[in-house]
Amino acid sequence: MAIEQTLVLIKPDAIKKSLTGHILTHLARADLEIVAARMVRVEKTLAEEHYIALKGQPFFEELIDYITGRLHACTKVLALVYSGENAIQKVRVLCGATNPEEADPTSIRGAYGRITTKGVFENVIHASADPRDAEREIKLWFTPEDVLDPIYPVKEQVWNGIKTRVWA
Ligand code: UDP
Ligand code: MG
Repeated sequence: MAIEQTLVLIKPDAIKKSLTGHILTHLARADLEIVAARMVRVEKTLAEEHYIALKGQPFFEELIDYITGRLHACTKVLALVYSGENAIQKVRVLCGATNPEEADPTSIRGAYGRITTKGVFENVIHASADPRDAEREIKLWFTPEDVLDPIYPVKEQVWNGIKTRVWA
């Protein structure tokens, strides 16, 4: 089985409700390694890029308000990269279904998620759905410098005489 990396976001509702520790404890069951972590203030442009595939959905505007923290007056998200065998599916299973009311009650979303009266799923966590999404999302949220043992190709860039490593 191949080593994979997957993006996890602890969403603003979880941060606001002090659920971060509980969620990380739950994720420890996957027996994976955390290879990057960063608190992020999510700008609208990053939010829209992250959820670009959902543009046009009726809940899109509210989803952007949710992930940028406008719904919870909490503009912080914890972004992490988990690495290991079968990481993408393992984390998705622990998260549970997108709709927290349909999620297994012992999953992260089943235990901590809810549906707002407006209908958006406040499901406390994001996890990449497949290898293509994982690569796109990790490159969007992190630089190669942030990720230990990045599995995607990296190149060196010289700008004003300063060398940095960027995604190839
Ligand atoms: N979402 C929602 N209503 C829907 C579908 C999605 O509020 O009918 C929100 C929910 O917060 C979800 C996010 O949009 O986590 C991204 O949707 P996606 O279908 O990618 O689900 P996920 O991959 O997060 O399980
Ligand atoms: Mg998704």
